[in-house]
Amino acid sequence: MSESRAFCPRCGDPVPERSTTDANDPLRPGAEVELCDSCYFEDFDFVDAPNRIDVRVCAQCGAVYRGNRWVDVGAQDYTDIAIEEVSEALGVHVDVEDVAWQIDPEQVDQNTIRMHSFFTGVVRETPVEEEVTVPVKIARQTCTRCGRIAGDYYASIVQIRAEDRTPTTEEIERAKEIANGIVADMEATGDRNAFVTEIGELDDGLNIKVSTNKIGKKISNKMIEEFGGTVNDAETLVTEDEDGNEVYRVTFAVRLPPYRPGNVIDLADDDGGPVLVRSARGNLKGVRVTTGERYEAGYEEGNSPDARKLGDLEDAAEATVVTVEDDNAVQVLDPETFRATTVARPDYFDPDAETVPVLKSRAGLHILPEDDD
Ligand SMILES: [Zn+2]
Ligand SMILES: [Zn+2]
Repeated sequence: MSESRAFCPRCGDPVPERSTTDANDPLRPGAEVELCDSCYFEDFDFVDAPNRIDVRVCAQCGAVYRGNRWVDVGAQDYTDIAIEEVSEALGVHVDVEDVAWQIDPEQVDQNTIRMHSFFTGVVRETPVEEEVTVPVKIARQTCTRCGRIAGDYYASIVQIRAEDRTPTTEEIERAKEIANGIVADMEATGDRNAFVTEIGELDDGLNIKVSTNKIGKKISNKMIEEFGGTVNDAETLVTEDEDGNEVYRVTFAVRLPPYRPGNVIDLADDDGGPVLVRSARGNLKGVRVTTGERYEAGYEEGNSPDARKLGDLEDAAEATVVTVEDDNAVQVLDPETFRATTVARPDYFDPDAETVPVLKSRAGLHILPEDDD
């Protein structure tokens, strides 16, 4: 018989000797000497639960106050929030294996949910179970973000305007989309300070009020990246914060270029023929509707060469081709008078076409390319 025995340090009863692995278990510090089962279970506390849990929930957006800030938890209702908070707050003894639990919420009143939680597990080869009931008190409040939105707070304003014209519906709609998209992306990364305060349409464009200068800057940059044009920013001192720091509101003035893709323009001091604008980002680029040659404005002119607008690609009417005269001329039926008219033949003209899109303007009749790109 081996005399290698250990004894319970509390009651002195013999206990089976622990294996070396058990004794060195880092999860059980201070457990060098094993208590007997009876002493062990005397002190054993399966579930550690607070007496009650107070939760501050934003009544507007459902954010929950945790630590020292509001966080979005994506909960559908207050019961979801209560379950999540209870899961965070309850602890089970580290020795227990095969822990399983279920939770049964009981709505006591509008702001109180009693959480009946039932735990099972195994420790020292003995099944254990415990039921705890934790009342969760919901306090309905308004989070910082919803408070600011309700107070029409904004730090930055983006003004969308266009040079010598009003922005098109497409540009206006795209600006709204960009603003909402940028904010949604920032929200998705957990940024609760990002929101659009107000989008206001005016006769000459759009004003977008947003919660931070960074968002204003992003919207303006994205707009000119897509449509061309320029942006100027100006700071206005609005107030001082509680620490005496000056708080500025930044206005981003976006000026979209005077011409946009699809416009047909007549350049001043130029006899090369009207130009169909293809791009207004950087220098204005396009194609001559008389020859099909490429046009690009000089550096000085940028996106606003001296010109007048004749019409739009989408204003084009279908005209019947009568005959191809030579390399430079085609006869088509004028879509308004139905008289055969000789017009310039651009190189994008397809000699097999029965009809072609034409634009009739102050500058005469011109064949446009098919509206495909
Ligand atoms: Zn003992
Ligand atoms: Zn809120």
